[in-house]
Amino acid sequence: MTTVAFLGLGAIGTPMARHLVAPEFSLAVWNRTASKAAAFAAEHKVRHAATPADAARGADVVITCLPTSHDVAALLDGPDGLLAGMAKGTVLVDCTSGDPATSRQIAARLASKGIAFLDAPVSGGVAGAEIGTLTVQVGGDEAVLARVLPVIDAFGEKIVHCGPVGSAHALKAVNNAMLAVHIWSLAEGMAALTKAGVKPSVALDVINASSGRSNTSMNLFGQRALTRAWPRTFRLALLDKDIGIAAQVAREQKVPSPLIQLTAELFAAAHRELGEEADHVEAAKIVERQAGVEIKG
Ligand code: NDP
Repeated sequence: MTTVAFLGLGAIGTPMARHLVAPEFSLAVWNRTASKAAAFAAEHKVRHAATPADAARGADVVITCLPTSHDVAALLDGPDGLLAGMAKGTVLVDCTSGDPATSRQIAARLASKGIAFLDAPVSGGVAGAEIGTLTVQVGGDEAVLARVLPVIDAFGEKIVHCGPVGSAHALKAVNNAMLAVHIWSLAEGMAALTKAGVKPSVALDVINASSGRSNTSMNLFGQRALTRAWPRTFRLALLDKDIGIAAQVAREQKVPSPLIQLTAELFAAAHRELGEEADHVEAAKIVERQAGVEIKG
């Protein structure tokens, strides 16, 4: 049996951790707000750890799923920190959508203690996490990935090794930069069409049968904006963080990236205006406000 610790029972971490409630795993959970971990542990009859160190004690694999790499780094130290609990030969699998530079620093610190690190951000959203069909992009040593594959396989469907530590975090950030571009450009286009008298549902229907379509047009916009339902599954604050990482990666690589840099600015402003709890698709509301139109129906 593999002993697994899962830290970070947020919107996506919770359904991921549920797949580790299985006979082949012995699971311990920790969450900053302890009541969430207590409720999860009681419901699924797994161990509720009091601290990150307590969660990591005896674990073969520790999984983190927190907002940022800085949050993960901050969990390492002190008497209650992960390093106080993790043993030599164990693996930290970081499912945070993090940043490559901080991940490389974390990996170096762990390596000095004989602990391996994989950056393993996920794609597929909360819906994919619930049904266990996430894509997991992994950076780090391929042999380490092979060792922990059964654990990642519990919540992932497509598991892809991308390169050295940090490569998966870079890839995830760039993917999410594309998502942000799609949300903003679709909102602008739909606002213009709505004002020009085209019914939004008709416009979306045609776009979805044409070359401008994307996951945003085919799934997100119809279900969330046109209905005005605006469900909250992936916080705008997190997408702002991701596109900021992508913009940073492009600058570091000296790639001229005016579109990514501008979209990062637009999402940072939307985040400031809509706050910490808004969903990522709600960025379209900023376009609507500026255009003086609602894209509905
Ligand atoms: P949430 O905001 O829903 O949850 C964040 C989790 O991290 C909570 O458990 C929270 O604890 C904990 N946390 C926050 N700050 C700290 C901290 N400083 N120290 C310790 N724990 C902390 O985020 P998600 O679950 O949506 O996202 C987690 C990661 O997965 C992010 O990097 C995100 O970008 C990525 N992701 C999310 C997707 C989604 O659809 N939601 C899709 C793909 C990737 P508490 O309960 O106390 O607030």
